[in-house]
Parts: sequence; C-alpha cells; structure tokens
Amino acid sequence: MEKFELSYEDMITFTNSYDACTDYHAGMDRYIIFYNDIDKTRMQSNRYRWNIAHELGHICLKHLVTYNQTRVYRSSLTRSTYKLLEDEADCFAAYMLVPHVGLYASHIKTQRELMNICKISSAAASTRYNDYIKWYKRNDHPKKWDNHDKALSRTYSIAGARKHCSLCNYMLYDNFAKYCPICGNSLNYTLEEKMARYPGVELNKNNRPEKCFECDNEENLVDSKFCMICGKMMINTCTNKEQCNHVGEAFPGNARFCPYCGKKATYYEKGYLKQYNKNDAIVDDVTNVAFNAITDDDIPF
Ligand SMILES: [Zn+2]
Ligand SMILES: [Zn+2]
Ligand SMILES: [Zn+2]
Ligand SMILES: [Zn+2]
Repeated sequence: MEKFELSYEDMITFTNSYDACTDYHAGMDRYIIFYNDIDKTRMQSNRYRWNIAHELGHICLKHLVTYNQTRVYRSSLTRSTYKLLEDEADCFAAYMLVPHVGLYASHIKTQRELMNICKISSAAASTRYNDYIKWYKRNDHPKKWDNHDKALSRTYSIAGARKHCSLCNYMLYDNFAKYCPICGNSLNYTLEEKMARYPGVELNKNNRPEKCFECDNEENLVDSKFCMICGKMMINTCTNKEQCNHVGEAFPGNARFCPYCGKKATYYEKGYLKQYNKNDAIVDDVTNVAFNAITDDDIPF
C-alpha cells in the first residue's frame, strides 16, 4: 500500500473485499494473497487466519487454474459454481485450522476451548464445534477413523495424547494408558518437553526376547508368546488375569506395570526387571524422541 500510495479504502475497492482475495498470474504461475491486517476486529478475533486459510484453499484446490480465473469473482462465475468454490475453500480452511482428530487429541470439551486452541473467531468456533460434535458421534474411537484422520493422528499424538508421569518423568503416547509402566504412578496429559527413558530387557521389534529366560533356547522367539522348549511365557504382559483385557499383549522390555490397569507386568513379577531407579534414566528432548519413536505399533488401532 505504501509503495503504491494506496489508502485503506483504495485497497478495499481493489480487493473488493474486507477480508481477503487471491490473484493468479497465469503467465508467471504465481499467486498473491491480499488479506486485511489493518482492521482491528478482524485481527483481534483471529478472523484473518480463517481468511488466509480460505485463500490457500482456493490455491491448493486449483480453483483459479481450473476455472481459468485471475480471481474468484462472483460476477464471472455462475452462482452455483461460485458457491461451490467458496464452500470448498471453507472446507479446506476447516481441515487446516480445526482438524477433528486434533480436537479429539486435545480433549476439547467446549466451544471456547476450541476457539482458543485453534485461534479462530467465535463465529467460526460455533460452527466448527457443532460440526465436531456430529463427527465425534460417528468417530468416538480411533478404530472408526478414516485413513486421513489416522494419518493426521500421528501428528497430533505428539502434542495431544502425550502422557507424563510426575514421579519418574516417563512419557507415553497412548490415549488409553492410565498408569506409568515404569513406576506404576498415575499418568496425566502433558505439554512437558523433556522425557525420561529407562533401560530394560532387550527385545526385538515384536517385543520378544533374544532367548528364553528359563532354558536359554534361542529358536522360534520372533513371534511366539511361549518358549517351544520349556513352555514358559516369553512376553512381558499384564498379570491381572481376572480384570484386565490387556493380558497377552506384549509390552516393551522396560515396563514394570500394565499401563491400563496398573498391576505388575510379568517381567517385574518374575524378577527379570528390577525396581526402576531414577539415576538410570536417559533424559531427552521430546521432539527428538517422538518423531523417531512413533511407529504403527504405538497407535492403538
Ligand atoms: Zn473465496
Ligand atoms: Zn513413572
Ligand atoms: Zn525356554
Ligand atoms: Zn493390566
């Protein structure tokens, strides 16, 4: 505006909008997004964020290229096409700024929480909250999510589903875990940046040991739960046979307790694992660990 000595009113006339618009220069294959960062209410209400996401939607969905437009003008498109493109751009903005699994992972309970965490206007938050409630009724468990949501959940589990033990500083990415597998203390959601890792019995990627603890047999332990020579249980699992439905699930080699019921795990009960010692912990930055450590096995579906 300064460069071309344009007033605020000139800009509104040029863009034909108080919110935002996108110009497409086909010759250079370049886009320019204009958005209103002068109007205080648009800035303070965070409406401008939606406006930018909406314009990015027009660009990513190739509206201007497909319809051979320099700008999405109401006047140069049929009414139904214009509405379609606007709805699609809004849908894009919603997926970008207010993704359902992000709300799920952040345990959003109210419209206000949604507004604050997604940084959108209260008007947008109202619509998005109603939409989320509808989605949640159909998708209340990660098992029901579509592939897009599942893929996205990996990103959100970094911040959203991260649980922390205040006693031993262990962290876990599991929405359903209630107890610390290292010390048995109860877990809480956290935004803590440092996590402690504890050594344990070395296991392969199927959580099976290299050899049998009882008879030293090294064969056939890749997938089997029991040693084929002496019949002993090889995996580290929950001992709470009566009450926990995670009995038989192979926990990591350092788990002393079942994360779901808090009872002892087999390796700890049998003495293959000693009580945890805080001095054995390796403390690491959570982002370093998280991106490498999360695999399909860590996601409970
Ligand atoms: Zn638009
Ligand atoms: Zn702990
Ligand atoms: Zn054996
Ligand atoms: Zn259990």
